[in-house]
Amino acid sequence: MIYLVEHFYSIQGEGKYLGTPSLFFRFGGCNMKCEGFGCTETSALGVQVVGCDTVYAVDKKHFGSTWQEIDSLDELAKIYHSYTLPIKADIVLTGGEPLIYADNGLFVSFIEFLQGKGHRVTFETNGAINVDFEKHRVYQRCVFALSVKLSNSGEPFSKRINPEAIQNIAACAQDAFFKFTVDKDSLISGINEEIKEIIKFAPSISVYCMPKGGSKAELEYHSEAVIEYCKRKGYVYSDRLHIRLWDQNKGV
Ligand code: SF4
Repeated sequence: MIYLVEHFYSIQGEGKYLGTPSLFFRFGGCNMKCEGFGCTETSALGVQVVGCDTVYAVDKKHFGSTWQEIDSLDELAKIYHSYTLPIKADIVLTGGEPLIYADNGLFVSFIEFLQGKGHRVTFETNGAINVDFEKHRVYQRCVFALSVKLSNSGEPFSKRINPEAIQNIAACAQDAFFKFTVDKDSLISGINEEIKEIIKFAPSISVYCMPKGGSKAELEYHSEAVIEYCKRKGYVYSDRLHIRLWDQNKGV
């Protein structure tokens, strides 16, 4: 069984494939909490929950009642067929952390199904969970946006950094790139050193940095500092187009 939080057809708002028409499947559950991002979401019972900008897909205790339990490939295929997609549309598997299901047979068959329809499948992952590329060869044909968490997430180093997983994904996947969430204050307090340490694990893949922000106002607050940082370091600036345009994460 896997938990599906939402699905929607939009454009990719972040990273290397920004602007690409994409069907998103957001799965429920994560191996982290990232309370350091300080976004808040109100649960159905009125509880203010702190976490990342997708806390509603992370915190099962407060939001799990809205998650859909998926038990068969037919259910996922039905959702897929409810959209009329061009073949060039990407399928984005996100969360939460979608790779908590990496070894789940249903999840693996879904990727196979999507690739069989001719779509590029891309993952948005925190890069801390290792993938068995030999056992499940479908992953070799996937793209991984490695959004490795920095200390501004509030998670301990040992939990957020898994060098073996990063190296493995960079070496075995069709494409992979780093995508860091950066904010003005952490740039002052030395987050650059952290990024340097992480990219050493996969020096050949590109580095994208995007401003922290679950709202348009927050994004605007951090953007310029991140642009200047990218200019100094030669990293690629990525906006968060969906937040910039629609001022939210859900369903866009
Ligand atoms: S790893 Fe990603 S989805 Fe999970 S809590 Fe952190 S930011 Fe949210």
